[in-house]
Amino acid sequence: MNYKKKSIKDIDLQGKKVIVRCDFNVPLSKDGTGIVSDKRIVETLPTIKYLLDQNAAIILCSHLGRPKGEPNPKYTLAPVAERLSELLKMPVTLAKDTVGPDAQAKAAALKSGQIMLLENLRFEPGEEKNDPVFSKKLADLASVYVSDAFGTVHRAHASTVGVTEYLPAVCGLLIEKELNNMIAAIEVPVRPFVLVLGGAKISDKLPVIRNLMDKVDVILIGGGMAYTMIKSLGGEIGTSLCETPLIEQAHDIYHECQEKGIKILLASDCLAADTFTADSPYEILYADRIPENKMGLDIGPRTREMFSREIAKAGTVVWNGPMGVAEFDAFAGGTKAIAKACAESGAATIVGGGDSAAAVEDLGFADRITHISTGGGATLEFLAGKPLPGIESLLDK
Ligand code: AMP
Repeated sequence: MNYKKKSIKDIDLQGKKVIVRCDFNVPLSKDGTGIVSDKRIVETLPTIKYLLDQNAAIILCSHLGRPKGEPNPKYTLAPVAERLSELLKMPVTLAKDTVGPDAQAKAAALKSGQIMLLENLRFEPGEEKNDPVFSKKLADLASVYVSDAFGTVHRAHASTVGVTEYLPAVCGLLIEKELNNMIAAIEVPVRPFVLVLGGAKISDKLPVIRNLMDKVDVILIGGGMAYTMIKSLGGEIGTSLCETPLIEQAHDIYHECQEKGIKILLASDCLAADTFTADSPYEILYADRIPENKMGLDIGPRTREMFSREIAKAGTVVWNGPMGVAEFDAFAGGTKAIAKACAESGAATIVGGGDSAAAVEDLGFADRITHISTGGGATLEFLAGKPLPGIESLLDK
């Protein structure tokens, strides 16, 4: 697929009315009173500020949560409008609806240099169905479309694909940065190129291995996904995670990698716990000799060392997925060790996926990582070489 797309820097936006698809799907506090992290809002500021410099009239839109096609005050974008207004030190008007009379009136009255936010896109059933009528209503609000929500480009929704049928469509600075950084790492990697994979679902990660098999030099596999592969090689994994239908595929991919001369390393030891709980007792065991009643919940000290050594020698590291159940403190050590190794490595480091990115940020290593991707599923699909409809639909460079 062609990732060379026009950005807001490639077209004339002077005085234009621009609709910008953002990812304001921020974590909200349980009592619904506020935003837990405004990172996603902060990340859109470069695009918004650039558009302000172009004297554009800016209509922002986003989804938040899963309101399933109908208005639900729990998922209003009001807290986002408020936070944006604080960050930009200027008013950000929130429409009462998404494409209804209030949004239409406010958009029509919007002047150059002003900003408004539409109400949650997913209050409308047409959004996730990529409905042409809803797409056209969105498009009618503006004369140019900007896509800056990397987290949703793998979905063909009205606000990511449908709207581009009716408006010239370009990417914003956040998406441009995502693509440039990830393409540079993958297309022209400084060697050795080390791919680090973890997380629960091997089903998500096998396509990534397959896509990058001709490019990488080393693959390090930890997390729950490692156990399906360990089992496929005859290991005993106890009650550890296992995607049984994928055992054969995991086995074949492992051997294909070896035949290609890729150094593919699986977790060799683990913290083997009695139960999947935060305070479960555990012991350090070989990852392929786990007794029937125990499960591997984190990579062990030998694996941490072995993986860190490879990362230290790397020229490029792409990491997706935690090394263990990082939500539980007792089983977060492996993920932290890899985050530290990435921060300390001189390699170009690309970290994607919510848990691995969070580990890097929580440990204060974010500024020592080349690029932390904002898209969970979108990043994985990019790494797996799958088409991203929300990028395909933009104007070619
Ligand atoms: P994924 O979405 O596939 O990247 O998976 C992320 C999830 O994997 C996190 O919620 C982790 O708790 C989980 N995870 C990582 N390692 C393990 C493991 N050894 N056993 C069970 N779950 C794991």
